[in-house]
Amino acid sequence: MSERTSFKDLSPDELRERLEAQGHERFRADQLLAWVYRRGVAEPEAMTDLSKALREELCAEWNFRPLSCERIDVSKDGTRKFSLRTNDGALIESVVIPEARRNTLCVSTQVGCALACSFCATGAMGFDRNLQASEIVDQLCIAREVLGADDPITNIVFMGMGEPLMNLPNVLRAIEIFIAPKAFAMAPRRITVSTVGVISRIGPLLEAAPVNLAVSLHATTNAVRDELVPLNRSVPLESLLGTLRSEPRITPRRPVFFEYTLMAGVNDSPEDAGRLPNLLRGIPCRINVIPMNPHPDAPQRAPEKAVVDRFTQVLHEAGMIVTLRRSRGSDIAAACGQLARRAPREATTQS
Ligand code: SAH
Repeated sequence: MSERTSFKDLSPDELRERLEAQGHERFRADQLLAWVYRRGVAEPEAMTDLSKALREELCAEWNFRPLSCERIDVSKDGTRKFSLRTNDGALIESVVIPEARRNTLCVSTQVGCALACSFCATGAMGFDRNLQASEIVDQLCIAREVLGADDPITNIVFMGMGEPLMNLPNVLRAIEIFIAPKAFAMAPRRITVSTVGVISRIGPLLEAAPVNLAVSLHATTNAVRDELVPLNRSVPLESLLGTLRSEPRITPRRPVFFEYTLMAGVNDSPEDAGRLPNLLRGIPCRINVIPMNPHPDAPQRAPEKAVVDRFTQVLHEAGMIVTLRRSRGSDIAAACGQLARRAPREATTQS
């Protein structure tokens, strides 16, 4: 890895301190933040209001580009998948999902994932390493460069490759840059961090930043969840839901978003749906139901439409707030659970 100072690893405060320690005026930090994050310029040569000496120093000693964009696949539904190469040669992916009034960027936080969920393509890859904050932040920089100023990213979800809470310090640092007024100035409520249930880190995440929390639930019994999410064997449903129930920062104004991937014959029965309201009692929440996106590394399949409808109907009738998520980008292997550095032609194509 490069030994140069990685600009996007530094919070605005750290940048100010670093530049000051190197003998530069304090306001240089704000100029640099504006160039890099507001105007999207990654080459110091182009930062025309900086002295030539400072520009040369930045070029020689700093790294502004931790990722390079290797390819972009565009789905027929407009979803774009970015294949990005780190400076040390690893390949990661991020996805831009356009919707009516928003553009959501789904970022990766690790190269691979250690948690090995049985239905997830990233889980089948195994774990390589955590991403640096700069490598998380650069996913937003590159998406913005490609989309241009007229097509801004409005929301960020930490739902790409990896388990964000297994890389919490770097995730928090990236969030700090996303929300810093002098950097991207995003509203924390437009950022969602998803976890499969790393319970010791949920409190620290919500304490550090008022972002949304999503929890990948996928089952209503430990027997089924043990098979889908190996972490459940050490952190069973009672522990996960108990943590959420006693977390003071989860409130009706700031509910948990439960993700429930529906798999035919696995977790899609009316009994499963019927168990959910009781199981989640006392936790302000919404439920996102996602029919399984198939891929070659997993045996599970999506249920028939009638089964999906029946499942969501039971939840509606119990008074729960349920959203059925449409699959996006599955023709380019960019949908939930399909991120695994697989070229589109090898992916399972479905509409
Ligand atoms: N590791 C974190 C962040 C990744 S989020 C987490 O699991 O929450 C990715 C989301 O896609 C999760 O809700 C995950 O359960 C879901 N997912 C994984 N594989 C899927 C698949 N094949 N079809 C649909 N959703 C899937």
